[in-house]
Amino acid sequence: MREFRPQARPQARPQPRPRFTVDPASGLLAAARQRNSPNQDERPPGATPELIVIHCISLPPGEFGGPWIDRLFHNRLQPSEHPYFAQIIDLRVSAHLLIRRHGELLQYVPFHRRAWDAGESSWCGRTRCNDFSVGIELEGTDDGDYNAAQYRRLAACIRALCRAYPGLSPERIVGHSDIAPGRKTDPGPGFDRVRLARWLAPRRGEK
Ligand SMILES: [Zn+2]
Repeated sequence: MREFRPQARPQARPQPRPRFTVDPASGLLAAARQRNSPNQDERPPGATPELIVIHCISLPPGEFGGPWIDRLFHNRLQPSEHPYFAQIIDLRVSAHLLIRRHGELLQYVPFHRRAWDAGESSWCGRTRCNDFSVGIELEGTDDGDYNAAQYRRLAACIRALCRAYPGLSPERIVGHSDIAPGRKTDPGPGFDRVRLARWLAPRRGEK
């Protein structure tokens, strides 16, 4: 009798799904690569996340993919590396999250702590928006647009944040230009709020 040996079928290797959950104790998003920035401090007593601020950044301006944003958020830019860097070498800035062009997600500040992204700003009569906001940087430019991967990842982050912090909701999302008009123009007209809203709309079977 011929031995029957079923051929081993090549198994599709299961891809680990990024976990879009925020641990409230650590303030960290499981799906993000952690790159803790020194540019952060405590929120004022009692302050919790109540607003999501969308920004854009690229370094040098208009160039994507280099290590420079990460170095800026770690105060490690060198003026010799690019002429533009001399202008920003003294900045001490950060954001809670950075979403790169292909959707890569990095976290620089735990959400219960204050990131230094909004600067002088005002929302609904309240100033110093960093005190009560979560800052999300999209790798991009004020006059460019954004990739589908960035919208998808941004929506997943916002959903996770809204689940973790009751003060946040899809209605409480602004651009940096909304809270610092005349001073800031990011994320620019290429940021499609309708497209983001579509990504945020409840899917079938969800509440
Ligand atoms: Zn900004």
